[in-house]
Amino acid sequence: MTRLDVLVIGAGFSGLYMLHRLRESGHRVLAVEAESDLGGTWQVNRYPGARCDIESIEYSYSFSEQIQQDWVWTETMAAQPEILAYLNFVADRLDLRRDIVCNTRVVEMRFDPGAAAWQVGTDTGQRFTASFVVAASGILSVPLQPDIAGADSFAGVSLQTSRWPAEGVDLTGKRVGVIGTGSTGVQLIPVVARQAAQLTVFQRSAAFTLPWEVRPIDAAELAELKADYPGIRAAQRAHPVGAARLSAFSLLLDMLAKPPIATASREDRLRAIDERGILGALDWGDVFFDIEANRQATELYGEAIARIVADPDTAAALVPSHPFGCKRPIIDQGYYQSFNRANVTLVDLRRGPITTAIPTGIRTEQGDFELDVIIYATGFDAMTGALSRIEVVGTDGRTLGQVWREDGPGGYLGLMVAGFPNLFIIQAPGSPSAATNFIAAMEQHVEWIGDCLDHLRAAGYRRIEARAEAQRDWIEHTAALVEPTVLAHPDCNSWYNGANVPGKKRRYLAYAGGIPEYRRRCDEVAAAGYTAFDLE
Ligand code: NAP
Repeated sequence: MTRLDVLVIGAGFSGLYMLHRLRESGHRVLAVEAESDLGGTWQVNRYPGARCDIESIEYSYSFSEQIQQDWVWTETMAAQPEILAYLNFVADRLDLRRDIVCNTRVVEMRFDPGAAAWQVGTDTGQRFTASFVVAASGILSVPLQPDIAGADSFAGVSLQTSRWPAEGVDLTGKRVGVIGTGSTGVQLIPVVARQAAQLTVFQRSAAFTLPWEVRPIDAAELAELKADYPGIRAAQRAHPVGAARLSAFSLLLDMLAKPPIATASREDRLRAIDERGILGALDWGDVFFDIEANRQATELYGEAIARIVADPDTAAALVPSHPFGCKRPIIDQGYYQSFNRANVTLVDLRRGPITTAIPTGIRTEQGDFELDVIIYATGFDAMTGALSRIEVVGTDGRTLGQVWREDGPGGYLGLMVAGFPNLFIIQAPGSPSAATNFIAAMEQHVEWIGDCLDHLRAAGYRRIEARAEAQRDWIEHTAALVEPTVLAHPDCNSWYNGANVPGKKRRYLAYAGGIPEYRRRCDEVAAAGYTAFDLE
């Protein structure tokens, strides 16, 4: 049994910074990581085309001037290998590896009220007693394997994008099927189209994508950016989504200030797509709040797709039927152009779903498709998935998974859950997380939790717990923020509200008030002596 002040679950972006922050202030802390190496999301999502959709200058740690000066980004939005290399660089710089235990999955945690500590069990048999636990287990770390009958009977190779083999996969000459057209599918499809002999895309929901150019950063530009880091970080900190430079999120936010589509003439609308292509179709101030405006923008979006995709049936099938803005905006590089290739076929599952996998491929109501490889890009049990798969037993005997299943996903400030004392969760339901640049949001969490743990130690408190009524108020407040937007529309089904997981209670999972306002609220709570937390 290893005794710790704090156990950190996970050694991805959040876990690494949490480990560093707590070690710096003298806590006895270890990070436990289920995978064979650190990196979290960027360790396991090795699929072809994987890259970030926020500029690396902002999708990176801001806490160390030395690290941001020494690391060299080579592209505006980094690809997976570069981000993983960056995390390894940070871990080496800060000498974090000596306090990370890899190949070890936390499987159970029980709170011992007498000792005011968590008893933690792992799949290797190693046990820990930790006064506090910080779950940095990721918001998109549990892949969803769709419930397709006969999946095991497929005689070819089945691959999951977020568990891509480290040694890579050669798709040359293969007949490949991709299931899923979310952010992952949209990144993957153009790359696979160039490799495979034949690519069949199985699309259940068409995606809204924002075309984007990723370009190299040369030494002179990087030097300029580095010289301007104080300004870049200050702008980022003040920005609601934690990314002030161009990103899918900031584009969405900028749209709010644009003229409404409802009053735009036909000429205005056509000019928008003449000048800016599919981006011009969506860039209107009323699409977020007015479902009819949203429908009109989608119609225009369809016209813009039809200008790119040569086959009219394929172009029509690529037009989404859900409101724009209610799934995460997707940045794409050549997605629609891929469908002009002779080796790419789109199967619109709205015309007849997948019925079963068969040894030779996929059977749909529209017919059979012969495949050598099936790639599942089918998403994640987001936000609550990782902790629900650990038996985390709280003070009333229920597991956290059970609480979230029965009461709905929630937490006070998106940081702690009532009934689970001394357990901090980085990016729990109700945190800015999914609605922002995850890294900017995560740094705020790590710093707030670090300050809180320092305070508890200094003041001699052994236990902290969120009050149930404060949690209820927070959940109501976060729901009210999205109520006037298309996010609350019944046709909005995505991982943002749990609709992608059968049986998950539907609730918008992020805090949409922006990081600066969220930070202000969290700081206010701390300054007032941790309002609405019980301290003992
Ligand atoms: P996702 O957005 O949840 O997309 C999953 C896709 O799989 C959807 O198109 C979904 O269709 C489809 N699907 C699921 N089950 C299916 C089934 N049984 N049959 C047919 N289709 C099925 O997941 P994701 O693409 O992995 O993205 C998740 C999140 O990860 C993103 O929103 C983003 O936050 C992050 N991400 C970011 C990047 C980036 O930075 N560029 C890249 C990848 C991922 P329905 O929509 O109909 O359910």
